[in-house]
Amino acid sequence: MNLSICPWKYGKRWVYSITYDEALADLHRFAVPMHEEYGIPGHVEVVVGQMGEIRNIGNSSFNGYRHMNGTELRDLIARGWGVGNHSWSHEVIAPEMVDREIGRAKEVLEEALGEPIIFYCSPGDNTNMAEHVLEACRRHNYLGAMSLTDALNLPGDELFWINRTALHDHYYPPFYSAYDPYRNIRQAQEMQGWIIDYCHCPLETAVHPNKDCSEAQLRQRLETVLSEGGDAVWCAVPEEALSYHLMRRHAQIEVVGRNGTHDDDANDQHYRIALPDLPEQVPYRSLTLEVSVPAAWCRDPRVSADGQELAAEVVRPGVLRVTTPVRDGTEVEVRESPRS
Ligand SMILES: [Zn+2]
Repeated sequence: MNLSICPWKYGKRWVYSITYDEALADLHRFAVPMHEEYGIPGHVEVVVGQMGEIRNIGNSSFNGYRHMNGTELRDLIARGWGVGNHSWSHEVIAPEMVDREIGRAKEVLEEALGEPIIFYCSPGDNTNMAEHVLEACRRHNYLGAMSLTDALNLPGDELFWINRTALHDHYYPPFYSAYDPYRNIRQAQEMQGWIIDYCHCPLETAVHPNKDCSEAQLRQRLETVLSEGGDAVWCAVPEEALSYHLMRRHAQIEVVGRNGTHDDDANDQHYRIALPDLPEQVPYRSLTLEVSVPAAWCRDPRVSADGQELAAEVVRPGVLRVTTPVRDGTEVEVRESPRS
């Protein structure tokens, strides 16, 4: 088989996303303008039962700050951000509470935003990643669940336990730490990982040093991602990274007819991509493909998908790369370059 699917979109080596739990309006003071400046999309996790209201949850460090309302969340979506459900109440979710915390919260959020919600994000700690919660997430058609486990996500991983890197000034005792803007990046480069940072609402100083970073630390992190990542990092909203992950895992490539290779004189290669069992709520449906071709085909390469000419680039000798929308049954054709 000469056609393969890249681990991540555009053939990028690793992926970077960042999430802001609680979706506080004060994100507009530092975080949102910083994201605009660097062109990186962010993601907010909404406590749906207090959308638009002043936070009043137990003894939360963020009580007194205001949660964004529907209009403000729609504004973030228009800027390329994404939105997840951070439960209805931010309490420990007992089995009898899942309909409200997972089901009703999703409905209300979708109604307010006019957008499907595909992420659940565990409030508090991993207690809310309990089996009955994750089972409810699957039943209510979520596509992923975010935990508070500090680790990378790999191209083959399960999506109902997504790891997030805590972007906090320092960690709770007894695991004291210092802020590290390079956290998990080297490993992401090596293992083709997907980093999802999380914090809350970076301000002049961290509101709570074990739960947040300062705006200066956030800037340091985003600059480090860009300087370490260069052209190899894909900065993507979690919805798009997750969609790509699912597309890659569901796609099945079939060779159609006879294919031109080094030892075959056919003048084209023809493939069909099937997507059996792709969940229907997957919002973004593209794949990045690499195809091995004879050297002569790399001069002004000719690649099309469903009859549409694609812009192919030569990434290595004899290897072309394209990114294209893919549906169940998409046909990809690679042809010998024309000679003048
Ligand atoms: Zn929270």
